[in-house]
Amino acid sequence: MIDYQQPMFRPPSEANSLLIQATIGCSHNNCTYCAMYRQSNQKFRMRKKDEIFKIIDERSSVDFKRSFIADGNALVMPTKLLSETIIEIFNKNKNMERVSLYGNVGDILRKSDDDLIKLQKSGLSLVYIGFESGDNITLRRIKKGATKEQTIEAMNKLKRAKIKVSGMVLLGVGGKERSFVHAYETADMLSKGDPEYVGLLSLQVRPGAPIYTEWEKGNFELPDKFQILKELEIIAENTELSNGYFFSNHISNYLPIKAIYPKDKDATVAKIKNIVNEKKEKGLRSEYYRDIVNQY
Ligand code: SF4
Repeated sequence: MIDYQQPMFRPPSEANSLLIQATIGCSHNNCTYCAMYRQSNQKFRMRKKDEIFKIIDERSSVDFKRSFIADGNALVMPTKLLSETIIEIFNKNKNMERVSLYGNVGDILRKSDDDLIKLQKSGLSLVYIGFESGDNITLRRIKKGATKEQTIEAMNKLKRAKIKVSGMVLLGVGGKERSFVHAYETADMLSKGDPEYVGLLSLQVRPGAPIYTEWEKGNFELPDKFQILKELEIIAENTELSNGYFFSNHISNYLPIKAIYPKDKDATVAKIKNIVNEKKEKGLRSEYYRDIVNQY
C-alpha cells in the first residue's frame, strides 16, 4: 500500500471520509499564521496519475460516502487530472456522495468557468477555502495571497459552477490593532459571497509560524478572550446568508456556536451579546481545552 506522507491535514468534518492524498503539502505555504507544513519542511508536490489511481484502488470501500482530496490546496491540480481523479473515486466507491478539497482563492480564479463546471460534473461538490479575513490590510500582513474582492469573486465563481463553499474565518488574526475592522470587513465579505458554510476558528500563535516570532517580539498583539468574542459578535450580527451554516464549534474557540442562517441569527447574536456585555465566563471553553488543539 502507498504510504501517505505526513503531516497530512483535512477539515475536522472530513474525519470519516476517504482521504486521497493526490498532492503533498501546500503550494502556497506562505501564510504567516500557519505552521502546518513549515515544521516538517514539507515541499509541495503533486502525485502522478498512476500513483493517485493506485491509492484510490487500495483505499476504496463501500463504507465511504464522502471523500476529501488532500492536501493543502488540491485545486491547484490540472483540471483534467483532478476531474479524472474525482471520477475514479466515484467509480471505485459505489456509495460515494460527496467529494471535496481545499482550494486557494488564486487557484479558483485561475480556473475558467468551464473548468469548474467540468469539475462539478465530475462530482466535485464542495471546496473549503481559508478566507481568514475580509480586511485587506490583515490579508496582506498574513500573506494570504488574496484580497477581499478576489475572495468574493472566487465564491461567486464556484456558485456559478454549482460547487458549494465552506469558508474558514480566523478570529484574532488582525491582532488588537485591526480587530474591529477585521470583524466588520469579514462580515461584509461573507454577506457578499454568501457561502453555504462558515466555520470560525480562533487564532492560536504556534512556534514555527512567522506570526509567533512577531508576537514574541511584540509586533503582533493577540486580542484577549472578550475581544475575540466581540469579533464573533460583530461577524454574527453583520453577516447575511441566504441559507448557510454558521459554526464556531472548532476546539480553538471560546464559544461553540452551531447556527443556521437566517433562521437562528437573532437568537445567536443575542446569546453572544449577553456573554460579551456581561463578561460571562460560564459556558466558555477553558484555555486548557483550547490548547489541546494542535492543528488548524
Ligand atoms: S493556511 Fe492553507 S494556504 Fe496558507 S500556508 Fe497553510 S496550508 Fe497553505
